[in-house]
Amino acid sequence: MTDVATAPKVEEKLFQNRYLVDAGKPHIKVRAHEVPSAGLLSMTKLCPAGCYALTESGQVEVAADGCLECGTCRIMTKTTGEIEWNYPRGGFGVLYKFG
Ligand code: SF4
Repeated sequence: MTDVATAPKVEEKLFQNRYLVDAGKPHIKVRAHEVPSAGLLSMTKLCPAGCYALTESGQVEVAADGCLECGTCRIMTKTTGEIEWNYPRGGFGVLYKFG
């Protein structure tokens, strides 16, 4: 059993992962919007990889580099359809290390 005091932090574990960017072909896109829904807006805080950000003009944008493919944003915007979500093409995306 791992001692909590000596266990690596989540950030340290995530740093072990590698990510292969599919340049010019992002697998997640935010559709054009004036005002984001509460679900989309929440992604600026919920995404475990920090892919979502709020622009100065109040829209939500995504930079899918580093995406962990957890699907949270897909579910949070399922009813609004604000996100176009696909898995990365074969060979691209996250490469998990240590599970
Ligand atoms: S799938 Fe998960 S990690 Fe990827 S952008 Fe959505 S919430 Fe973030």
